[in-house]
Formats: sequence, structure tokens, C-alpha cells
Amino acid sequence: MESDHALQKLRQELGERGFLGAAQVEERYLMDAVGRRGEPPLAVLRPANTQQVSRALAICHAAGIPVTTQGGRTGLVLGQLPQSGEIVLSMERMAAIEAIDADSAMATVQAGVVLQALQEKLDALGLVFPLDLGARGSCTIGGNISTNAGGNRVIRYGMTRELVVGLEVVLADGTVLDGLKPHIKNNTGPDLKHLFIGSEGILGVVTRAVLRLAPKPDERTVALCAAGGFAQVRALLRHARTRLGGELTAFEVMWDSYYSRAAGITGQSPIAPGHPFYVLIEASGAYASVAANLEATLHAAIEEGIVVDAVLAKSGAENARLWELRDRSVEVSRLLGPVVSFDVSLRIADMEAFVAKLHTLAHGIAANCDVIVYGHLGDGNLHLSVRVPPERPETYDIIQRSVYELVGEYGGSISAEHGVGVSKREFLPHSRTAQEIAWMGHLKDTFDPKHILNRGRVLPGL
Ligand SMILES: Cc1cc2nc3c(=O)[nH]c(=O)nc-3n(C[C@H](O)[C@H](O)[C@H](O)COP(=O)(O)OP(=O)(O)OC[C@H]3O[C@@H](n4cnc5c(N)ncnc54)[C@H](O)[C@@H]3O)c2cc1C
Repeated sequence: MESDHALQKLRQELGERGFLGAAQVEERYLMDAVGRRGEPPLAVLRPANTQQVSRALAICHAAGIPVTTQGGRTGLVLGQLPQSGEIVLSMERMAAIEAIDADSAMATVQAGVVLQALQEKLDALGLVFPLDLGARGSCTIGGNISTNAGGNRVIRYGMTRELVVGLEVVLADGTVLDGLKPHIKNNTGPDLKHLFIGSEGILGVVTRAVLRLAPKPDERTVALCAAGGFAQVRALLRHARTRLGGELTAFEVMWDSYYSRAAGITGQSPIAPGHPFYVLIEASGAYASVAANLEATLHAAIEEGIVVDAVLAKSGAENARLWELRDRSVEVSRLLGPVVSFDVSLRIADMEAFVAKLHTLAHGIAANCDVIVYGHLGDGNLHLSVRVPPERPETYDIIQRSVYELVGEYGGSISAEHGVGVSKREFLPHSRTAQEIAWMGHLKDTFDPKHILNRGRVLPGL
């Protein structure tokens, strides 16, 4: 059989460490971070360098074998889990931080570098790669780039897209597209790297990247505030932006439905539950005045009646404690039992009405269809969990469909930062026009004419 011959060639090409046959595949290659399982793959490929990725893809392309690429498998939309008849391409052995250029504030890394490993290496050098998310201990730079990850500091530094200067990509047929240039300014025609950032591996495999770094802030201070209404939350965002300027690094909002549960899980309530909204603000900067600026900002907000209570962390340990309230969202959501989770973008001005309609919609489905809401509000991004009544599991589909329709009515995005993968592909038309989807298909046909890379992810049937 052609696929048996191809597997033999792959084993020869990649050697013992680089090729795991079906019988050797460990369970971890089948699982995502929240316990969902894919199909056993034909093999797992573990290339050690770009040339091996190129030769492996050329073999798979010639034989027409579909391939799914894996980084840290923390993706939340099933894109990285193997489907029947696929080969897994794991980037775990390409984990070298190749160069750090302090003058240009850039790092050149391989795609399998774990985000936290890069953060720790840079910390010692007085630099940061500003991307930060709860999955930092497992997710990889290649996965971050392919999903255009967002996370906690987008309000200050932008999404991953803003942090990628150059990119090396291997196309489905093994062609190496070397765009690994360390130039911020490079106006030499269409910038191809942007086609691969956020495309979830359907157009090519990211192998190496030049990343933009920032100086490590001398100081980082976190505050928690309580607000009596959504108008006050919006006013606080404007106030914080004006008063803190570039020092504003995070603006996270938790509805009480979330906060009261997070307080229970973490065993702390720096401000008592019961207020409608809680806002976690982080300020950071190169000057020792950051904490004083944040304190003055909060005093002014209290005097102007924007917030009703506020707590300022006094140490790194207290910063971490406050962040814990926001970071343990997976456990908070689990308290509801089975849920449908959403990651949506909306205009901030629409959020209050949207959430009110969401509650009406959920309670119309079942009285015990609870909702929790929290998110990166400063970026227009909300996370929602809607409880599926355990006695009525069939409502999962109804909830999913109705909420995405509601997002569509508000002109929002069905995926703010987690991507589309398999989970959301059928809902793409709520956020993208038919013409946009058709042109995505043309790009897929051009870069991957045999549709071997992450087949069926993002674009059904391609
Ligand atoms: C606790 C938790 C918190 C999270 N918080 C956030 C958050 O705040 N913001 C956010 O944006 N996401 C968040 N995520 C989602 C996830 O961590 C990100 O999507 C992350 O960027 C995925 O990286 P990964 O290496 O784990 O990729 P994987 O899960 O392995 O893959 C994700 C997708 O990218 C593709 N891919 C992976 N590597 C490559 C490559 N080298 N080339 C081409 N395609 C590739 C895969 O095929 C798949 O489609 C969170 C997840 C968890 C579990």
C-alpha cells in the first residue's frame, strides 16, 4: 500500500527518535488540555529541524496522507487532535531558543519552544516576550502564532500577530518559505507571514519565528475594583486608559456570577461578593511610580463615583493572589457542571444588552441554565459559560446555535482568540461573509492543493 511505503520512508527520514509508529504512540498525543480525545494516528512524527519537517511533508504530500500539526495541545477548538487516518506532526523536538538580540529587542526561536520557557529565559536578561496566557506552561510559540493567541496583556501589546517580525513556514509539499527577517520595517510587497498567523495550521507549518520583545517592567501592580453598573465599568476603562496611558497592561472584568465562585475556589474575597462587577487592573512600567499612579487613578475613580470599592496589591505575592481570581476560570466554569463555553468579541457598548439577552435566552431554555461571564473586556473579548441542564443534554446544541446567532446579530466575532478548529467551523458564517469564506478556500487550494494540512479544520470539507 502507498501509505505503508510512505510510513517506511518517514521512519528512514526521521530516525528512531523522530518517528513513532502506531503501536508506539503515547496517549498524550491524542488528548487536549481539557481531556478531549482524538483518534489514534497512523504515526507521530517528531522532526528535529526545518529540513526534516520539509522532507516529511514532501513524503506525506506525495502519498496524500493528511497531517495534523501539534504544539502543546492546549488549543480549545479540537484543531490539534488527530482524526481518523491522519499522521501527527509534533513540534516538540524543535524547542531551541536560537538567538536573543537585545539591541533590536528580538528573539529567534523554533516553533516548539514552550511560552513559559521563553518568558523565564528572557526574564533573566531584563526582557519580556509580552504574550501571556493561562496555558503558558505547555503552549508553544508555533501554536501561539498559528492561533494568533491573545491572553492577558493584549490591551498593551496587541495579539500575537503584533509580536511576530519574521516567520519560517513549511508548505504542504515541503517547500520552505523563509521569511525569517529581523526587520520591523520591510515594505517589500504583500507580507506573507500574516497569512499563516491565526490560520490554525491549514496553510503551512510554522517552524521558526523572529519575535518582538519588550523591556521587562521594573514594576507591576495589580488592583481589584468593584463597580455598581456596566456604565461604571465602561467609565473605568476610559478613566484607566487616560490616567495610566501605556502603563495599563490588563483590564479584566468579572461579572458577580463568576467572581463569587472564583472567591470560593481561591478561598479569598479581597472585596466581598455581591457587587454586579469586579475589575482587575494591572499597570506596569519602567518607573517606580507605577504603583503610585495606579493608586491615584483608583482614588480619583472612587471620588468620581466610578468604583465603589478597590484593593491595591502591595507585593508580587499579592499581585499573584489577585490574578488567581481571574486565572482559575476553567475551575470556576467546572462548578456549573456540563457547559457550553464561548469566546466572543463584541463592541464594548453592546455588551450589557448582549449579556441581558443571553440570560433571557438561557432561562428560556431552562430555569437552571446558569450563565457566567468574564473576560478581557479592555479588548472587547468576553468568555461565557452556559450550563447545560444535566437532565436535558440535547439543549447543548440549542444553546450553542442560539448564542452564536445572537453574536451574529450584534455583528460580533464567534471566536475572539481561541480560533475555529473543528468546534466552531459550522458557525463561521455568523462572523465571515460568504465571499470571505470562499477566498479562504482559494488560499487553501493554492497553498495546500491536496488538502493534507489540518484537513477540515476552520473550513469544513477542505
Ligand atoms: C488553561 C488555558 C488557558 C488559555 N488561555 C488562552 C488565552 O487567554 N488566550 C488565547 O488566545 N488562548 C488561550 N488558550 C488556548 C491555547 O492555549 C492557545 O490557543 C495556544 O496558542 C495554543 O498553543 P499550543 O502550542 O498548545 O497549540 P496546539 O493546541 O497544539 O495547536 C493549536 C492549533 O495550532 C496548530 N498548530 C500548532 N503548532 C503549529 C505549528 N507549528 N504550525 C502550524 N500549526 C500549528 C494546531 O494544528 C492547532 O490547529 C488557553 C488554553 C488553556 C488550556
